Amino acid sequence: MALAQAAAEEARAAGEVPVGAVLVRGDEVIAKGFNHPIGAHDPSAHAEMIALRAAAQAVENYRLPGCELYVTLEPCLMCAGAIMHARIARVVFGARDPKTGACGSVVDAFANPQLNHHTTVTGGVLETECGAALKSFFAERRRASREARAAARGEAHVAAGGEAHPEAHVEGRGEARVEAHPDAHPDAHVETRSEPGPAEPL
Ligand SMILES: [Zn+2]
Repeated sequence: MALAQAAAEEARAAGEVPVGAVLVRGDEVIAKGFNHPIGAHDPSAHAEMIALRAAAQAVENYRLPGCELYVTLEPCLMCAGAIMHARIARVVFGARDPKTGACGSVVDAFANPQLNHHTTVTGGVLETECGAALKSFFAERRRASREARAAARGEAHVAAGGEAHPEAHVEGRGEARVEAHPDAHPDAHVETRSEPGPAEPL
């Protein structure tokens, strides 16, 4: 899981929601992947999908029996499907995803015996640590978004001719908006990795 967490940091460095995955067979790491659907212009570029593709290429087999997939966030339905097709033996995930998790949080694809006979799932491994990486990413993004909105308001104010104390005006509005804005709530749960990246315009 530590390797998956390191892969998640690669996603963060690329400006993507930090999710990482590692595919292991025995003691051997076959493949790694990190989430980057925005940069790849690819809705399927989740960490698990990247790792599964790389592993299948490495062993030249679309089936990956006997392999274990470690991922920092609960797989979504798409990834759960790919995991089943690859016949992964075991999935170990970190944080739960209350919006798109397909290992029990929203649906439990692996609990359906008609769908799956191959994969066991273990969730909540290093859950706090894996979740903290996601929370810090979204907190930073909300902060940047608030700053961008405040800056845009300031520029609009100056462009309009301004008042006697433009700085006080902007700060006052900014503080009030931050307090009232739902994004400011720190108890926001882990958000989905498919959230749009760019800050909202004013
Ligand atoms: Zn997924």
